[in-house]
Parts: sequence; structure tokens; C-alpha cells
Amino acid sequence: MNDRSIAYFSMEIALEEGMPTYSGGLGVLAGDTIRSAADLQVPMVAVTLIHRKGYFFQHLDSGGWQTEEPVEWNVEDVLEEMPARTSVMIEDRTVHIRAWRHEITGAGGFSVPVYLLDTDLPENSEWDRELTHFLYGGDRHYRFCQEVILGIGGVRMLRALGCRDIRRFHMNEGHAAFLTLELLEEEARKAGRESISSDDIESVRKKCVFTTHTPVPAGHDQFPMDLFERVFVHRKVFLGMEEVFCIDLANHIIKKHMDLSEMRPVFMGGSNINMTYLALNLSHYVNGVAKKHGEVSSLMFSAYKIDAITNGVHAANWVSGPFRELYDRHIPGWRQDNFTLRYALSIPGEEVWQAHMQAKEDMLRYVNRETGAGMEPDVLTVCFARRAASYKRLDLLFNDIERLRNISSGTGPFQVIYAGKAHPQDMGGKETIKRIFQAAESLKGDVRITYLANYDLKLAKMLTAGSDIWLNTPQPPMEASGTSGMKAALNGVPSLSVLDGWWIEGCIEGITGWSIGEDARVKTPGSDWSRDAGFLYDKLEKVIIPMFYHDRNRFINIMRHAIALNGSFFNTQRMMQQYVLNAYFR
Ligand SMILES: *Cc1c(COP(=O)(O)O)cnc(C)c1O
Repeated sequence: MNDRSIAYFSMEIALEEGMPTYSGGLGVLAGDTIRSAADLQVPMVAVTLIHRKGYFFQHLDSGGWQTEEPVEWNVEDVLEEMPARTSVMIEDRTVHIRAWRHEITGAGGFSVPVYLLDTDLPENSEWDRELTHFLYGGDRHYRFCQEVILGIGGVRMLRALGCRDIRRFHMNEGHAAFLTLELLEEEARKAGRESISSDDIESVRKKCVFTTHTPVPAGHDQFPMDLFERVFVHRKVFLGMEEVFCIDLANHIIKKHMDLSEMRPVFMGGSNINMTYLALNLSHYVNGVAKKHGEVSSLMFSAYKIDAITNGVHAANWVSGPFRELYDRHIPGWRQDNFTLRYALSIPGEEVWQAHMQAKEDMLRYVNRETGAGMEPDVLTVCFARRAASYKRLDLLFNDIERLRNISSGTGPFQVIYAGKAHPQDMGGKETIKRIFQAAESLKGDVRITYLANYDLKLAKMLTAGSDIWLNTPQPPMEASGTSGMKAALNGVPSLSVLDGWWIEGCIEGITGWSIGEDARVKTPGSDWSRDAGFLYDKLEKVIIPMFYHDRNRFINIMRHAIALNGSFFNTQRMMQQYVLNAYFR
């Protein structure tokens, strides 16, 4: 393991279908990032928690009300247990940690190991054993302890596994930011000191890279200071260090930026620990996940330099069977070099359409079998699938049911497929799902609408490939990037989306897909549902439905451009190359 120089830390990583170790886009991105690192032979090792009970299994009753069940999966059958052990102190207890290995092997045979940390050991107390059971479960205290295991336990486990020469620690979101504290302590120990110095801070900063994913202050992970004191109570060194840490860090910031006000949210007695500030202060390279998100983050954290590397998806992982075959025939080598997808422009239109219809029929067969919705292959099919977080505005489409009914009967028929889980504690999200069920009921007989339960990797693959149009209606500027539209583009499926996140970069109106409303950069802030829904209806009624039924060649040309212009760029192969150039080896 001593050949690894990049350590990638993420609270969630989507590794395989059937492994419930992710909740949404953040985890899917982490998995695709590692896949591309393996393809490109980047000497990476990844760390996450095992989440034995997963992110839950979603049940929807006939009225659309969500209930949750833990997922049971056999860790022992799919992962390899490592003999190495490590531990962290939580309150006055030693919490023992083991690691399970999952390997991701790239196109050329190079592997990136992923270590999943697990505290479910007989030597731990019942409560500590559950710390690696539930992804985003429990209260603030539970989450704090999980982040101690991920950050501090993760660094210690890497050392126990023999990873000594790690040059970069990449924090995928702030959840892993406690790793900086362990690295500081390592530096102090190396120098035989009990407290940390500004030299230690400098050397840790050189090692750390931080990717932020959240465009609003409330979305950033924070903990009350008393949790910090309670959980780390044993650590004399650490508590002593905390004093020094505050002062040193403050000096450091003052020297760098002459701005103490930026310090306040980091570590102030009686106030909050903000994981984002911790990561910002201790990283030499920080980035947002799309150009716009980089700008928004720079405004939010004005004392820091924040770059942007736009997200991607792993092409070979997300291209459906029919399109894989099509690309293999026309663009051999596309898996090794995703840039060559640009040449999709020369694939004959009929072949693109045939591959698409095959993916669409596969999807509809599944949907009809699961739901009895009676969806038809010749009808324009719109899919909307993502976490049911309120900023995603899942039910914007149903703002004016009558208008929707009239479009369907007057302009041309369409059918809609939904999927997505609400966080168990997000009552607003659960209500949204219920409202979609109600809308489906009111439109019965006019527009076919169905909601698939338990959105996961398998459903995401089917829907992003089988849809005619990929719909996204977030509230700007809340969508940091969004990635499902990129999966759709790789399958020749154009997006119809609000201009936010990646779509500001990906949308060329009427060439790669369509926008809903004007550019978020010139738009007045604030949510205006009826205006945005109006833009959405106009686009469906005046542009998309007529083109789909009466100008099929033009529609297919847009499909080709989605692949050639967006599929060739919004992938994790290009993204990983940018991390290598800008963050890892600089
Ligand atoms: C890609 C993906 C997401 C993220 O979708 P967004 O459009 O970025 O919200 C969430 N969940 C699953 C299962 C995915 O595959």
C-alpha cells in the first residue's frame, strides 16, 4: 500500500448495485471519481464508512406516503476483511475500528482499493457498534461521532494499512474534515511537541484538498462547540491543542487575509464548529463542483480562493447496453478516451434512434411490470428522478394541472415517470411525494404518471437511458452541479432544465437540450413557482412536443449533440484529469 499518494475521503460512496452505501449524487460522484482514477491509474486509495443498515429501503403506500426500512446486506459476502485494526477515543471510550476492502478495477487493470470503516465489533459497546450502521441517520451527536470515525479513524486506518506516503488528502465535502486534526497531531508528534505550530498548519495545508458541494450556508455541516468538548474530553493534548489551534489558526488567517471575522465560525468558544471552515482553513486547494457553484462559493467564503472543477459521471458505467454497442461500432476506444465521443455527430440518425428505442422499451417494460402504468413506447416520455429535497422542486411540473391537461390533449401526448427518496426526517420532502401521487390521480385518463419506489443506481441507469427528455427544476442557485442530466446526455437523452449547476455550461438552446427560464445569473433571486412552471409549459407546448412528433430528425440531431458536446466533456475522466492537473500533483 505504500505506492498510494492520494487518499480520497467521502462519507458516502456508491460502489455497486445492492450495496446501500450512498444516498444520492454525492456518493454516486465519489464512486465514479474512483472508477476514473482507476482507469487513469491515479495512485488513489479511498476511505468511507460501511453503513451496514444503509441508507434505507423506501416504501410508498397507495397515497404516496414514504416509510423506511433498514437495508440488510451481507458485508461478508461482498467485501474482504482486513486484519488491520485501529481505534479512536470518543468521550471516555476506546472505539475499535476495522476495515473492509472493495477494489475498483479500471479499464487497464489498475485497481483502487476502497476501505469501508466498521465499528460493529464485539469489543465495542452496543452504542458504538451502531456508529457505522446508518448513513445520515441519528442526531447531531451520532453524526459527530461518525465524522470522528471517518476523519480521525480513517487516517489512522490508512497508517495501520501501511499507507505512509500519502501526499494529498482529498475531502469530498466537509464530513471528513476532522482528518486535518489527526494530520496536525501527526505533525506535532513528529516534531516531539505537545502542541501544534504554524509550521504544522502549513504542512497540513500542503497535503489537503477540499471539494465543497453546498451552495447555501445552512447546508454546511456544523456542530455545537459543547459536542466537541464532550466527545474529545479525554484528549489532553487535543484540548490543549485546541487553544493553540484557535490562536495559531487565527494568526495564520490574519497573516494571510487580515480578516478575523472569517475566523468566527470555525472555532469560537460557545459557538459552532463549522466543518466547511475547518476544511477551508486547512486546504491548499479548494473547489466548487461547477463554474457557477465556484462563483457562489467564492462570494459565500470571500476570504478563500475557491476554484471550480465541474463534476462528471463515469461514461462506461452509465452508458446503456444498446448505446455501448453503438459506440463500440462507431467510436472504438471511447471507453479509454471519452473525448472521442465528440464523433457521435457522425453516427447515422436512424442508428441513434434504434439504440434509444431499445433502451426506452427496456425501461417501459420494467415500469409497466412494476406499476401497471400502461406506458406506451411511442409516447413522449419525461423522467424526473433525484432525491426529494425541497429545493429540487419535484412537483413544479404540477403547478397548473389544467394547463398540463390541455397541452396533452391539444399539442400531443406525454407520460411522466418519477422516482426519488426523501430523507427520513424531511417531512416536506415526504409531502412533495404525496402531492405527486395526488397530481397523478387528478390527471388520470389524460396523462400517465407513475412514481417508482426506492430510487437507486439500478433505476437511475434505466431511467437516464430510457427517457426521451430528462427534466430538472431546481431552485437556483441551490443545485451545486447535478449529475443525472450528464448520465442522460451520454445516452443521447437531452435535458430540459432550469439554468443552474452544470446546465449553465451544458445547455446550448435547441442544440444540446432546452432551458427553463432565463440564465440564473441575470435572474432576480427568490422562488417564483408559477413563472418557472410557465416557462416549463411553454417549452413543452411550443418546442419539444411538436418537434418530437413532427420533426423527428431535428430531435435526433439534438440527441447526437447531447452525446458529442456534453457526453464527451461532462464525464469523470475529464474531471479526474483536472484534479490531477490543478489539485493533486501541483
Ligand atoms: C446520479 C444520481 C443522483 C444525483 O442526481 P441529481 O440529478 O444530480 O440530483 C442521485 N441518486 C442516484 C441514485 C443517482 O444515480
